[in-house]
Amino acid sequence: MKRRDFFTDFLVGGAFLTSHTQQITTPPPATAPEVFIERPVTGKPHAGKVLAAIQPHTDDIPIFAGGTVAKLVSEGYTGYLIRTTNDEMVGTGMTGQRVLDNERDTAAVAKALGLQKVFDLEYRNHQMDEISRVEFRARLINLIRLLKIDTIVCYDPWGLYEENPDHYVTAQVVEASCWMAGLDLDYPEQLAAGLQPHAVQEKYYFARGPQIVNRVVDISPYIDRKVEANVANKTQGPCGDNGARLRAKLAAQKLQLPLLGHDDDTANRAYIKNIVLDFDSSYQRGIPSDKELGRKYGLEWAEAFHYIGPRLSQLDRYISANSAPL
Ligand SMILES: [Zn+2]
Repeated sequence: MKRRDFFTDFLVGGAFLTSHTQQITTPPPATAPEVFIERPVTGKPHAGKVLAAIQPHTDDIPIFAGGTVAKLVSEGYTGYLIRTTNDEMVGTGMTGQRVLDNERDTAAVAKALGLQKVFDLEYRNHQMDEISRVEFRARLINLIRLLKIDTIVCYDPWGLYEENPDHYVTAQVVEASCWMAGLDLDYPEQLAAGLQPHAVQEKYYFARGPQIVNRVVDISPYIDRKVEANVANKTQGPCGDNGARLRAKLAAQKLQLPLLGHDDDTANRAYIKNIVLDFDSSYQRGIPSDKELGRKYGLEWAEAFHYIGPRLSQLDRYISANSAPL
């Protein structure tokens, strides 16, 4: 059983949620949460809305949510990329060179996904558990209000067994910033500078470990855009030029893989699409294949999320249905 499936079954089965004498008010559902299939749509239904893809490192969004980000932008969102670290601990050469290489890759990722601008917050790589979360939160709230961000894509703040502090600190501070940005008293200096309260309405959370999945996004028309974004990560991660490297390594041994084609570009794209995103996905990314996930829902390629949408009040409908003249 896959880790994600196991957790979903376990959690919604209520085995530990209801095993205490202090029962929670609303019993958990007896079955797994309904999974909504988000399909591609024509036109620009999201025109006028703003999306922020938020990642600690330059390879996170491309690996786990590149297809969904490309889809949402294509369907009308104005998109931004926020990278929270400086990625100094991955790459080759001196520290400054590694920072520069990752910054360039991040710009290329944004371009591949159709994102308008990158905000690099430059916290030190792998050290985000030492930062001031309140300072970080103020910076994110400032961006949410400034850019009027409606929707975010980020790591799941409650994803279990996440071992990278940059991942869980970023996700948890994003979670808090999304609602606090909508309050009219917090960070009054931002409001005095002319910004307005603005809460994030929709959240797509991805995870490397077990999480509650309630949305599967059909990324079939965007799989090649996802591959493109992953080709851009030359400095770190499982993608970049690894296909060309494998092709060269095999050639030195007088071997070839037909899958990798006859040139470096073909090798890189084929390696990412077929190896990283598909049959070696669990090893390369720590999650099941995008293709395997899609097959489960009758789709060709898919990405999974815990989606949190806007809460809609039923009060107006109740009043109109039940109110009577005095
Ligand atoms: Zn990362």
